[in-house]
Amino acid sequence: MAIFGATRYIHAIEMIDIDWLKSLGVRCVLMDRDNTCVPRDSKVAPPAVMDWIERVHDAGMTTCIVSNNFHSKQVERSAAELDSGVIHHAMKPFPFAVRAALRKMGVRPDEAILIGDQVYTDVWAGNLAGVRTVLVRPQCTTDLWYTHIMRIGERIILHGQTFEGE
Ligand SMILES: [Mg+2]
Repeated sequence: MAIFGATRYIHAIEMIDIDWLKSLGVRCVLMDRDNTCVPRDSKVAPPAVMDWIERVHDAGMTTCIVSNNFHSKQVERSAAELDSGVIHHAMKPFPFAVRAALRKMGVRPDEAILIGDQVYTDVWAGNLAGVRTVLVRPQCTTDLWYTHIMRIGERIILHGQTFEGE
């Protein structure tokens, strides 16, 4: 179903080609936090992710974390470490937080892209807000219990889907 379809499927956020983002006219990269930038079993982004975000900034684009995580202090700390804007308590797949992020960062939907590791939160929210999406694989197998349940449905949607970089 198109509403659950991402623009691209790439193994990890740090594999996304920054020139491709520029060629799309992206001015702001919206990023899920947990298991997209920061592994669920860790509190900090791996060096490769930090390096990638730095290169995004060097290319003249901004970044903003859009997180469903209710631990707003942790989310804000990550955003500060990653030199990114932040919207927490996002309640994805509802598109409100994505739209709030676009307003905050001063970009239109077609000037943004949302990168996340879940179909039923990140990809769906991006599609509802009219923002392109990249689905990445979760950084680690640690997930919240209800995420594990959603992953079952996700496996059906993603059956046969290939991810670039694998
Ligand atoms: Mg996530």
